[in-house]
Amino acid sequence: MPKLMFIENEWVKSSNDKQLDVFDPSKGKVMETVPHATKDDIGRAVDAAQDAFRKGIWSKIPPGDRANLLLKVAAMLEAKADEFVKLESANSGKSIKQCTGYDIPYTIDNIRFIAGAARILEGKAMGEYVAEGTSAIRREPIGVVGVITPWNYPLMMVVWRAFPALAMGNTVVIKPATYTPLSTIELARIMQEAGIPKGVLNVVTGPGGEVGETLASHPNVGMVAFTGSTEVGRRLSVLGADTIKKVSLELGGKAPFIVFPDADIDAAVKGAVAGGLVNNGEDCANSTRYYVHESIIDQYTKRLNEELSKVVIGDTQDMMTDLGPMVSAAHRQNIEKYISKGVEEGGHLLFGGKRPKIPGHEDGYYIQPTVIQTDKRDSSIVMEEIFGPVFTVLKFNNYDEVIEESNKVVYGLGSSVWTKDVTTSMRAARDLRFGTVWINDHVPVPSEMPWAGYKQSGHGASLSHYSLEEFSYIKHVYWDISGNPRKSWHYCVYGQKP
Ligand code: NAP
Repeated sequence: MPKLMFIENEWVKSSNDKQLDVFDPSKGKVMETVPHATKDDIGRAVDAAQDAFRKGIWSKIPPGDRANLLLKVAAMLEAKADEFVKLESANSGKSIKQCTGYDIPYTIDNIRFIAGAARILEGKAMGEYVAEGTSAIRREPIGVVGVITPWNYPLMMVVWRAFPALAMGNTVVIKPATYTPLSTIELARIMQEAGIPKGVLNVVTGPGGEVGETLASHPNVGMVAFTGSTEVGRRLSVLGADTIKKVSLELGGKAPFIVFPDADIDAAVKGAVAGGLVNNGEDCANSTRYYVHESIIDQYTKRLNEELSKVVIGDTQDMMTDLGPMVSAAHRQNIEKYISKGVEEGGHLLFGGKRPKIPGHEDGYYIQPTVIQTDKRDSSIVMEEIFGPVFTVLKFNNYDEVIEESNKVVYGLGSSVWTKDVTTSMRAARDLRFGTVWINDHVPVPSEMPWAGYKQSGHGASLSHYSLEEFSYIKHVYWDISGNPRKSWHYCVYGQKP
């Protein structure tokens, strides 16, 4: 049965009846179809969200009540975790091991944190900042938020963007990625069962260039929350400019992974394999550029190759599988182009680089983990986001050089430093121009901590209490407490002081 969109708490087809195919990337076969939303469908979803916002059925209820509903959603998601694990894995190509141990439980934890954070928002305290009045800060929801999400963490990214918006009292229209809309649709089903009021959450499906652009440029959408590529983020900034929308952008990354000569090599090798291969290498936080001190680089690459040869590539639904397929044939082809270019530009292929043969999955979009060592510091595999399991290894000689090289890309999302020396790690934590610096690890982001970009990785923050502030206006409320009809400041405007 084809999937439907969720608008005004109803399950609807596209108004022109058009459907889009959704693939299982491990088999290269269609697994579902979803509606291709029309302009009218998007308009209806925005109207529903705006109507719900204006009525105050969500925006004006106490944050504790909103939190309770989100906590109910977390509990229902937990009860259905196995179904979500299977669906997310089948649709996105990530291993069932990762969905079981990371994606789904972590996403549930994210929801619980966001629900709790709704109740503890802080502003400047009420106080007398001038003699005759008192002031307070209110944080208020913006209105209708258009949420546009990528395919790499379909469910998690919806939670990271739509849930803080909801927790703040906004209403949302979500457009999931065309490759991976299924878990978002199932989440909407849970939200409906949990009792989300009509129009507060809507889901429309269809291609970004059409559906995403229509949503992002709709005059009644007050804010766009986007997670995806820097290229599309740039386009959305332009689209938002017409109506001066707040556009929150979480964009691409190209994380450096710096191994100083005193590092624990074993930890830095295992950390590299996990940091480079998490989410099949399709993670904005993936370690991608391995700057290794020249005194240990040969030892390091040898150990890295040995560790990578243990990685099991296979059926996403098998708990033994470490690495699944890329999300699409086109994306795999793009990664292959980068591998060829890396070699053409002077790199040495040290490991992988080919399509593995997986019995029963001959049409799946698999690629081996790949290591390329290069001295060409400006080559495309060093400077650009590949978004696949490609490890680019470079050698460095001293601290200043490696920090400068690390900061040279346009991105600034995740980075890591591997050293036993506290001074080196503290200096690097200051000097790296990235939203996150990990010391002797790479990837963890607890729900309480912000995930934020520098430079062309975007701005704003996901997770932590900052993510709720992102979805609010700030309002100053001022009361006269003097009771005098004539305030002292009036005499600067007219009349003379008595
Ligand atoms: P993408 O191509 O930018 O697409 C993201 C979303 O935007 C999809 O829903 C897409 O729809 C839609 N879209 C495409 N063109 C659009 C347009 N002109 N107007 C409005 N919406 C449009 O990114 P992706 O390939 O899905 O995801 C990978 C990227 O996301 C990587 O760059 C990665 O680093 C980044 N990412 C960043 C973070 C972070 O936290 N900073 C987290 C995850 C991913 P379609 O699916 O229909 O194309």
